[in-house]
Amino acid sequence: MPQTPPRLKVDAITRRFDGRDVVTGVSLSVAPGQVTCLLGPSGCGKSTTLRIVAGVDRQDSGRIIVDGDCVSDDERHLPPERRGIGLMFQDFALFPHLSVGENVAFALDGGLRRNRERVGDLLERVDLGSFIDAYPHQLSGGEQQRVALVRALAPKPAIMLMDEPFSGLDNRLRDDIRDRTLAVLKEENTAVLLVTHEPDEAMRMADEIALMRAGKIVQRGAPYHIYNNPVDRAAAAFFSDIN
Ligand code: ADP
Ligand code: MG
Repeated sequence: MPQTPPRLKVDAITRRFDGRDVVTGVSLSVAPGQVTCLLGPSGCGKSTTLRIVAGVDRQDSGRIIVDGDCVSDDERHLPPERRGIGLMFQDFALFPHLSVGENVAFALDGGLRRNRERVGDLLERVDLGSFIDAYPHQLSGGEQQRVALVRALAPKPAIMLMDEPFSGLDNRLRDDIRDRTLAVLKEENTAVLLVTHEPDEAMRMADEIALMRAGKIVQRGAPYHIYNNPVDRAAAAFFSDIN
């Protein structure tokens, strides 16, 4: 059976800071509608990798390929806004002076007035349809987080990059918001590269896990495969506190 071509391909990227290798030969791919989790302990180079894919930082060597086109290598470097990529970080701050609907419509031509249907539909899907004209301070943290998600999805990015997007939320909310987020991403057939240091988050959300340590991918595979067949003792220990 032919494989779906990847939407995003990261090919052997390397990044040094102050003479120190922070990312070393990292390769990844993400298919449409698939969630790949870049999982590893704090400081292993996850955010640096994501920033390079986004185009806000640049690799020293290697290539980034989106839908078969090279967006960054030694010669070329497209800016973030020309990569068809949506971003969502832990610090997802909404614009406080804009309504929920205006926040979601922010990156859309014609703003909320011209896009009320799409914005309303997206908010409906995260159960916030009635909040379209409310202001961010009237929403809980978890509700604001859902608004931030649909704001990132509104321009229909082919690829969504998420860096620890749920870590600011308390435990009770987190599972519910992860599940809702995943459902919307799957409905939109978005390719997702999700960075997390939490194994249980990766197990819950990923179609594929890329396990990272000290700047390198040490293992790639389906969540339960990695969980059941850790590549070494350190990988086993990393997963051992999942219940
Ligand atoms: P993670 O997201 O996995 O926690 P990061 O990619 O943020 O890790 O950081 C990896 C390493 O690179 C850390 O040691 C960090 O201090 C270092 N680092 C990240 N960005 C810079 C920078 N702009 N200049 C110097 N060192 C950096
Ligand atoms: Mg990080």
